[in-house]
Amino acid sequence: MRKDQNLGDYLRMQGVSRRGFLKFCSATASLMALPPSAVAQVAEALATARRPSVIWLSFQECTGCTESLTRSHAPTVESLIFDAISLDYHHTLQAAAGHGAEAAREAAMEENSGEYILVVDGSIPIDNPAYSTIAGISNLDMLKEAAEHCFAIVAVGTCAAFGGLPGAQPNPTGAVAVGDIIKDKPIINVSGCPPIPVVITGVLAHFLTFETLPDLDHLGRPKAFFGQNIHDRCYRRPFYERGQFAESFDDEGAKLGWCLFKLGCKGPVTYNACATIKWNDGAGFPIEATQAGYAG
Ligand code: SF4
Repeated sequence: MRKDQNLGDYLRMQGVSRRGFLKFCSATASLMALPPSAVAQVAEALATARRPSVIWLSFQECTGCTESLTRSHAPTVESLIFDAISLDYHHTLQAAAGHGAEAAREAAMEENSGEYILVVDGSIPIDNPAYSTIAGISNLDMLKEAAEHCFAIVAVGTCAAFGGLPGAQPNPTGAVAVGDIIKDKPIINVSGCPPIPVVITGVLAHFLTFETLPDLDHLGRPKAFFGQNIHDRCYRRPFYERGQFAESFDDEGAKLGWCLFKLGCKGPVTYNACATIKWNDGAGFPIEATQAGYAG
């Protein structure tokens, strides 16, 4: 797909039928947690959507966020990367290496100045920028350079959004979040360790469809996915209400699927879509992983 083509033209050239296109729109609307009535609006917007350039920078991270993205099931990461967006720079997924990779990043920033989406995973060390560098450039300098002419930033994962594990005490590298450094660009925090893959693609799909930011909560997270706490949607909630709690991970209560509150569950204070969207194509989420028979 050429960058000057819209998505509708591209899909028609590929022989995608109207029915197939609406199916894609329906999946995209679902990704953005929109009601079925919004599919027509999504279809209209996507038919004329341009293919946005995405530059993905990975700093102090474990590659878990990218691993998570590659397990997204709708749209598939392949269709997202090759059809709907132009992923112009990504250490792990791009074919280019070395000087070629850096040249691709610089070219994408120049050609799409003011329009590209900057995705960041990992925190940024500021005590000594030499703690983490790419092509001899410190994370701090690379972030500032890439942020200067971007349209918006998506901070993927708890490290990029809030500092995460590298930022935990004693924080030996002086790790900070993207929002601690960049103050003059819109930032969407897609937190999680790693974030739910469908939430990552849902945010990118929102840009693709509406070219605007989704509604955000007070922590800069998209409300569509972070608006409810896990406790309210947890399948173990009836046990909580009845006062049936597991006391250890291998007692009878645990085997019967009782509530994990006494074992330290933070579901009542955690806002995320884990209990509804789930992981691995909807197979389960961490609270289910403690129960025998979980296949996630
Ligand atoms: S397991 Fe956690 S999230 Fe689920 S009902 Fe118990 S306290 Fe709430």
